[in-house]
Amino acid sequence: MIARAIILGPELLVADEPVSMLDMSVRAKILELMLDLRRDLNLTYLYITHDLATAKFFCDRVAIMYLGRIVEIGSVEQIYADPRHPYTRALLSAIPEPDPTKSIPRDVPRGEIPDAARRPMGCSFHPRCPRAFEVCGWESRDLRNLLELRWVEAGEQAYEQEQAMVANLAELEEPSTDVMLQPARGHDAAEILALLQQIRSEHPEEPLWRGVRELTRDGNGVRVRFWDGVDPGLFDADGVLAACLLHDPESRRRAEELSAQARLERPGRAGTR
Ligand code: SF4
Repeated sequence: MIARAIILGPELLVADEPVSMLDMSVRAKILELMLDLRRDLNLTYLYITHDLATAKFFCDRVAIMYLGRIVEIGSVEQIYADPRHPYTRALLSAIPEPDPTKSIPRDVPRGEIPDAARRPMGCSFHPRCPRAFEVCGWESRDLRNLLELRWVEAGEQAYEQEQAMVANLAELEEPSTDVMLQPARGHDAAEILALLQQIRSEHPEEPLWRGVRELTRDGNGVRVRFWDGVDPGLFDADGVLAACLLHDPESRRRAEELSAQARLERPGRAGTR
């Protein structure tokens, strides 16, 4: 395959997982061979892989992708020494460490990879990001996920009781920053509001709550509104480019304003009632 790829004298070779199905011993030999060919033939490789350990060994620059988009790009030295995107941090912490005496803090993203055809609003990584904040793109599907996680932990009885309170749970599948939960027959808005407030008080550290602008009774329902999110471009982060709003001073300033505003609107003032 390598001979066929180089016989026409290319300048650029796209190598998509070239060694992923090989034994470790053969893998190292093939990578060495490719490095020799790069030097002798003045080649450039676009090396596509899920294996960050071989990428570190083989590449000069790395672009990390999530849901089909580049979220961080920079030199191997910079990205492996000091990753600036939370997803890159999680990926690097998942690299196996052969020394059993070394403990590695695992930072595995929670939840499942979202459907790329129905991307999360704002930053695509926000539903799984441990550092997500006010402007990262919170929306109805995140609330649905939060409820489902609770029901997985709380058991069947709690699930039966709580999901029966809301008549329009299925509507949470439609992306929106403004949700109106309607009580099912035999229930009322006060029960739904109390349930959401209980979940919030049990898990105040849950990042989703930072994105909640309003949690109120509204007529016969409960309104949940989220702050408008921002889809991050690539921001300069000390020499690498990272698609993360933590590296955008404007977004951080805006988040501080929103957080102060939310504090003012909390119980006793307005907002969450
Ligand atoms: S913008 Fe940054 S902090 Fe916000 S969710 Fe995305 S990766 Fe996390």
